Amino acid sequence: MALQIHQFPARGDNYGVLVHDPATGATASIDAPDSEAVLAGLHEKGWELTHILTTHHHHDHTAGNEVLKRMTGCTIVGPAKEARSIPGIEVQVGEGDIVEIGKAKAKVIETPGHTSGHVSYHFPDDAVVFVGDTLFSIGCGKLLEGDAKTMWASLQKLMALPPKTELYCGHEYTRNNARFALTVEPENEALQARAAEVDELAKRGEPTLPTTIAQELATNPFLRPSSPAIQKRLGMEGRPLAEIFGEIRKRKDRF
Ligand code: ZN
Ligand code: FE
Repeated sequence: MALQIHQFPARGDNYGVLVHDPATGATASIDAPDSEAVLAGLHEKGWELTHILTTHHHHDHTAGNEVLKRMTGCTIVGPAKEARSIPGIEVQVGEGDIVEIGKAKAKVIETPGHTSGHVSYHFPDDAVVFVGDTLFSIGCGKLLEGDAKTMWASLQKLMALPPKTELYCGHEYTRNNARFALTVEPENEALQARAAEVDELAKRGEPTLPTTIAQELATNPFLRPSSPAIQKRLGMEGRPLAEIFGEIRKRKDRF
């Protein structure tokens, strides 16, 4: 039976996500932005928490760790490289490690850049990936603990996943991201269409996530430094892609 996924808003613009293996009852929370929101999500679905899969150490992704561990006895999994700053961590993981949530298997992909030890969790059999604050719909994480080269290498790993892979992110930033993206690649028709869709969803108060790798490849300027239109607009024709990516990131920081 396929993995079941429940996404819900938490602490304003964060998302909480629960993944549930119906065969065994195992349930993982992707990060723990807020214990109450996660408990409410569990209650709504009638699921019992067995794991927290931490993407990175930031407070808005780990604030619920200790309460949830105390209340449920769940196992907290997270990046070895940030273990010191992740409350309650028991299982430390790195590139290529497999985490089992019941019968479901998540493969760990190291995606540093936003933080130096950030990881993503890819469930290849279920065609879904949880990327925390590495990649957002039409955007990407700020380079708080890494440079453009590091982040570009991380993004390329995600870009190489099967295009139909569903992508879950840590935040609902899509509407603002779309406004920025249209300044970088205004003639991109897929982006124009997605921006219109995002406006509609926002008006109805609905989530713009999950997205897919295919949709992000077509619309997300941070994944498109090879686009001739973007290179021309930035006056960076033929420059190394990591450098073009870095320039897009700088412009977004000033946007
Ligand atoms: Zn973060
Ligand atoms: Fe965050």
